[in-house]
Parts: sequence; C-alpha cells; structure tokens
Amino acid sequence: STASVQTDVTAADATGYRGHDMLAPFTAGWQTTDAKPLVIEKSEGSYVYDTNGKKYLDSLAGLWCTALGGSEQRLVDAATKQLNTLPFYHSFWNRTTKPSLELATELLETFTANKMSKAFFTNSGSEANDTQVKLVWYYNNALGRPKKKKFIARSKSYHGSTLIAASLSGLPALHQKFDLPAPFVLHTDCPHYWRYHLPGETEEDFSTRLATNLENLILKEGPETIAAFIAEPVMGAGGVIPPPTTYFEKIQAVVKKYDILFIADEVICAFGRLGTMFGCDKYNIKPDLVSIAKALSSAYMPIGAVLVNPEVSDVIYSQSNKLGSFSHGFTYSGHPVSCAVALETLKIYKERNIVERVQSISPRFQEGVKAFSDSPIIGEIRGTGLILGTEFTDNKSPTDPFPAEWGIGAYFGAQCEKHGMLVRVAGDNIMMSPPFIFTPQQVEELISIYGKALMATE
Ligand code: PLP
Repeated sequence: STASVQTDVTAADATGYRGHDMLAPFTAGWQTTDAKPLVIEKSEGSYVYDTNGKKYLDSLAGLWCTALGGSEQRLVDAATKQLNTLPFYHSFWNRTTKPSLELATELLETFTANKMSKAFFTNSGSEANDTQVKLVWYYNNALGRPKKKKFIARSKSYHGSTLIAASLSGLPALHQKFDLPAPFVLHTDCPHYWRYHLPGETEEDFSTRLATNLENLILKEGPETIAAFIAEPVMGAGGVIPPPTTYFEKIQAVVKKYDILFIADEVICAFGRLGTMFGCDKYNIKPDLVSIAKALSSAYMPIGAVLVNPEVSDVIYSQSNKLGSFSHGFTYSGHPVSCAVALETLKIYKERNIVERVQSISPRFQEGVKAFSDSPIIGEIRGTGLILGTEFTDNKSPTDPFPAEWGIGAYFGAQCEKHGMLVRVAGDNIMMSPPFIFTPQQVEELISIYGKALMATE
C-alpha cells in the first residue's frame, strides 16, 4: 500500500527533521516517517555527535574514510588556503592547476609496489573504477585487439555504485532491480576460506582451487576476450575478507599468463589501513592499474584517482594522436581544493608515520575483538590492521545463518549505538575500520562497547 508514504511532510520535529526530502543512498524505507535518520552534526577526533548532542565513537571512520578523524585543522587550513587562492580551475585540454600536478607526482612516488607513471583524478572510488574500464578499453582498441574487453571481478566484491562500478561489484543488491551486471563483466569466486573451503582443504589448497577456477573461466570465455581482473586486497563492504594464504600469488600468475591487466581496488586499503602503505605492499601484488579514494583526503574533500603503469599510459599517450584524445574526465577531475587537501593529508601521514601508528595499535584492536570469537552467535571474526568484520551465524557454522527476520546484526548495531558507538551493519555482518588516529584508550572503549552489545545480543 502507498497509504503510509509521506510525500509532503512539512512539520519539523525538535531536531528540524521534517521527513525524508532527501532520497538517501543505500537506505530502505526512506518514504516513511518511521525510518527517521540519525543526523550527525559535528565531529571531534574519532567521535561524532548527533543532533541531540549524543557522542559516538566512530568505529567505521565515516564510511571507511576519515582516516585522520573529524577535526584535523591542517586539512581545514589547506582547503581554506586553496579556496582563497584558486577555488577552481579545471584540468581539461592541457590546462590544469598546481595542486593537481603536485598530487599526481606525490602519488606516483608514494605507490611503490609496482612502477606507476600517471595519475588520473576522479571525485570518487566509483568514478575511479569506471575510469579503469575506459582506460583498459581504450588501451586494447589502441593495440588493435577490440575483442579483449571483458572484466573479471569477484563475488562479494564492492567497487562502487555507478553503472559500471556496480556491475564490477559482486553483491546481488547492487544488481537486482537495476538490470546489472553489464554483460562484459564476469564474476569469479569470493576468496573467503571459512565460508567456501571444502572439507579437509587447507588455505593454500583453497587458493590453488580458486586460481584454477579463474583459469578455467578465462579459457572458457577465451583469453583473447578478457581484458582485466579487478580485486580489493582485503574485501571491504562484502564483509571484510582478507585473502587466504598464497591467493594473490596464484591469481596473479594466472592473470599474467593470459595477458590480462590486474587492477587493484585500493579504495579502502590504501594509505595505512592494513598496516602497510597499500594493500598491494602487504600481499605482494604488482598491479597494472590502481584505484584510490577515501583516505586519500581523509574524506575532507571528495577525491579519487587511478594510477596507471607505463605500459598502459604509454600506449594511450602514443596512440591518442591517431585515435583521438582519451575523451574522458569530470569537471572536477583534479579539483584544486580536493588536491590541496589530499596533499596535506599525505604529508600528515608521512610526518606522523601513520603506517607504524596503525601497526602499533592494530594488534590490540584485532586481538581484543577476536577474543569474543567463542560467542555462540559468532561464526567468524576476521580482519587485519585496522579493519575488522564480525559475522553472526548459528552453530558457529558458515552454512547456518540466523533467520533474517531475527535481525541479529541490526540488533547488535543498535546496541552499539545505544552504548555510544557507530558500526556498519550489513545483514548479520558487522564491520569496523577506525580512524588511523585511534588512541589505545579508544581501542579499549571500542572493545568494551562491542562486548556490551554482544552480551545484550546473545
Ligand atoms: N571501491 C571500494 C573497494 C570501496 O569500498 C568503495 C566504497 O566503499 C568504492 C570503490 C566506491 O567508492 P565511492 O563510494 O567513493 O564511489
């Protein structure tokens, strides 16, 4: 029935809320007044406050992004200075700005897992992944192999929500009702050992099987049709899934064998989250192309980027006189204010040895939460560095989910909220990725609230 749908709510409540005039992203029930949003009004370090003044520990760093927390004055100053100097100029047609040129250089120097020679700027991670597809197609067209266009991604991956990025993603909710994925995208196995390993199979055997499955898929489709493989070093929104041992080594060997480009989607993993500068450093991934966003500016301004290796960028540069320019880009590609903030963010990461900082606080974060693994309602707690997922299941089994209508995950999330902490809830998966500036006391606070919420949920 549409009887409960509110289309013209005019009376505001005490917080100023007057119904959802906003069509909110990834939000169910936005039409009804009972789905009242939590309105966040201000931030202070790793805490945020709602409009009632209630304080919450922000265990997800916004959306896995506010790596320096919510009150880094240097980022505000960097933005203000740039706004006062040059709030905007574009980067089309061989015009650009100083912050975008400087940031490109800085990124190429910061990423060392493989040689990268160009950076292309976007406003978001989704746009970065869309850009990847266009770069790869342009590249293969330039090389005279127009059939080599398919992309292989993985089940449960998240690469964003534009049409192409949602197609690459391996989450059914992003496809259903949108007529996706696009036909050029294929999905291979999710590398989640706990859920998908066969009886008696070691992690290494599991990785071998997944690499064989990937190879079989490539052979079935025809290697001459497969352009690229895309993967997050640790899967994020799919439930925080670190790769099983030897997985990337084996996958990379297959991809290389068939002349398929490897795209690392580092949108969550980059800049220290895993206790290494990039996820590629941690898992010895040598990508051809890299997507970054989020912690690149600690989310103070929207910005994403694609890093391109010399092989791909050389072809694009040398062929563009013949084929026409790489006609792709956004008004705000290389926005000077976003770039100025990102430059300052990277400077802070260096000055504060952010990678070592993450390394120093993450063991207690991981062990403290994983100590709850024995709970009868927890199937698995998994993570590394400053990223952690909890999956609630019955009988501690990956194949015994609780009935969805019980809403175990939602209840746990609500309990965290009641006790002053925000977590990400996706069904019976709970995800956390605290700011890199988390203090040891905040780690203890997180563990304590997690424990209270778990006890109430059990
Ligand atoms: N790639 C990964 C791995 C992500 O986690 C996300 C967002 O969470 C994206 C891409 C999309 O980024 P954005 O939301 O900035 O478009």
